[in-house]
Amino acid sequence: MSDLRPLEELVSRSQRIGSDQSLVVYGGGNTSSKGEIKDHLGRLRKVLWVKGSGADMQYAIDRDYPALYLEELLALEEFKEMSDDVMVDYVTRALVDPTSRRPSIETLLHAFLPARHIDHVHADSICALTNHENGESATREALGEGFAYLDWIRPGFELSKLVGTLKDFDGVVLAHHGLVVWDESSDRCYQKTLDAVAKADKYLDSLSKRPESKFTHRDVSNSELREILLKLRGKIGKRQILKVDKRLVEISKRPDLKEIAASGASSADHMLRIRPFSLALDPSNLDESVDRYRDDYQAYFARHSETLTAGYSSHGNDPKVILYPGVGAITAAPTARENQMLGDIAFHTHSVAARVKDCFGQGRTIPESEIFGFDYWPMELFKLKSRPAPKTFEGQIFIVTGAGSGIGRGIALYLAKNGANLVLADISKDGLDEVSTAIAKEKGEKPHLVLADQSKEDDVKSTVAEAILHFGGIDGAVINAGIGVSGTLEELEIDKWNQGLAINLTSAFLLTKYTMVALRTQGMGGSLVYIASKNAFAPGAGFGGYSVSKAGMIQLMRIAALEGGAAGIRANAINPDAVFDSSQLWAGGIREQRAAAHGVKPEELEDFYASRNLLHARVRSIDVAETAAFLLSDNSSRTTGTVIAVDGGVAGAFPR
Ligand SMILES: [Zn+2]
Repeated sequence: MSDLRPLEELVSRSQRIGSDQSLVVYGGGNTSSKGEIKDHLGRLRKVLWVKGSGADMQYAIDRDYPALYLEELLALEEFKEMSDDVMVDYVTRALVDPTSRRPSIETLLHAFLPARHIDHVHADSICALTNHENGESATREALGEGFAYLDWIRPGFELSKLVGTLKDFDGVVLAHHGLVVWDESSDRCYQKTLDAVAKADKYLDSLSKRPESKFTHRDVSNSELREILLKLRGKIGKRQILKVDKRLVEISKRPDLKEIAASGASSADHMLRIRPFSLALDPSNLDESVDRYRDDYQAYFARHSETLTAGYSSHGNDPKVILYPGVGAITAAPTARENQMLGDIAFHTHSVAARVKDCFGQGRTIPESEIFGFDYWPMELFKLKSRPAPKTFEGQIFIVTGAGSGIGRGIALYLAKNGANLVLADISKDGLDEVSTAIAKEKGEKPHLVLADQSKEDDVKSTVAEAILHFGGIDGAVINAGIGVSGTLEELEIDKWNQGLAINLTSAFLLTKYTMVALRTQGMGGSLVYIASKNAFAPGAGFGGYSVSKAGMIQLMRIAALEGGAAGIRANAINPDAVFDSSQLWAGGIREQRAAAHGVKPEELEDFYASRNLLHARVRSIDVAETAAFLLSDNSSRTTGTVIAVDGGVAGAFPR
């Protein structure tokens, strides 16, 4: 009988290790167990279960741990040396199930050590012990004679063979990389990692020469932060989101911030995700700061590009982690998930660099040629290749007002499905919550919800401000919030008239104003989409308050197009007609009133509207959403100041 207990122990131990980011972050580290299973012919065979490449231990499941025939792996000990490619070929052939996920690049290290359970972590405090001139003696003093110490060697065959010779130790510290421990018992193995890390921490704490309040304290106001975010996003010039991560705020205030940003990744695999060095921003010289970073990265790439494996090119020169004095880290990536990963890794890697400086005075990283070798190591780039193809609006940021129902809701769902990062504003909390839940169901990027009345200037200001603080910039807005205003001119009360203008038109002016200011500061152009109405061109009797406000919106759009054009800011309108699905527009007696105006029953209104258009079609919010998406996208990059009717074809409302 196959005994799967070692695998069960391995999975549960890995989950425990993975849940502590000071041990491993995002797919770093690996663990293994050995046992026996029956093969396909019923023979009992020794196997190694080892973590799959790139699997994140905190979410470990059985499938993340492919089984490999141990004797096939041990046969490789005979070789003197072996290239990465050949090693991967051999290791792949040893898989019990050839369709299982690719095993870790460090598989042979786990095979060549005889112990039943092995844990390998990239622990912060272990890296802090080694990332300086006297790593070996610090390791010895912190952990005692039981632990071996190996200078930096890139993971692979050579490192695996070396570690295999150290089986009589309790574990081994790999400089600039991490820790390996082993034991016959799964629990004891786990405990050994914790004990070694605790010892390292205690030792480091005893050495810490943290400077006393030498911080150059400088608090950054929210408006200053917004300005920097917009300028930074524009300077980098990519459609991506910028996230502020305040965990590094203390470190960001240190006078030696530049050195910390330059000291490299604490554990080599961190640099794969966050670049070998971060940008220490000088906010008063933002352009120059970014240019210098780009020059530095390009020069680093040029220094080593001869050693680049054929078929690979530069990752590009832009920073992914920006350390901003008084704020912390700003991360730059197309999705919230990637930003979270960057923030987590930056927090650990730069905290280690600061700790090394506090404990040992001066840090030391691996030679630059080795950094490059790792940065562009095909074996590791494989991990990153698994990224799915980007969605249409990935990394783009849009505000949608009136997003809690009807057309706004439909547009929000559509944009979210296509990867957009959304700031959704509405006066209905229930409406916003419902849309947010619907987006989550479709696995869209999590929207930022703003409960706000768009007819109030302060609310509009904060809607735009929150978009910038939450996502780091803005690419456009769908100006949609509105209400129906019914009544003939003779009946219409001044309050209702004013309310209609405020909610349908003044709100559009305000959002135009503040969005355009932000777009201009950012300097990447942008797109404003006005949800007007067929009534703007073909008004209805008894619907004057509404029709006038929508006609005003079209004129507003034209002015925005005139004033924004030189900055690449486009403005266009959509004229929908008779969109009913989940719309609030028809509530409060409007449906009954419009039905009466057309001489039909209220429940016949949808069919009435459909019957009077040229295509005899009911217009749905998805139809408006498709057009809004077109106007927000680069597909309409040569279009501004125009109106697109989405009304099924109403001759009297043809744009002209
Ligand atoms: Zn490792």
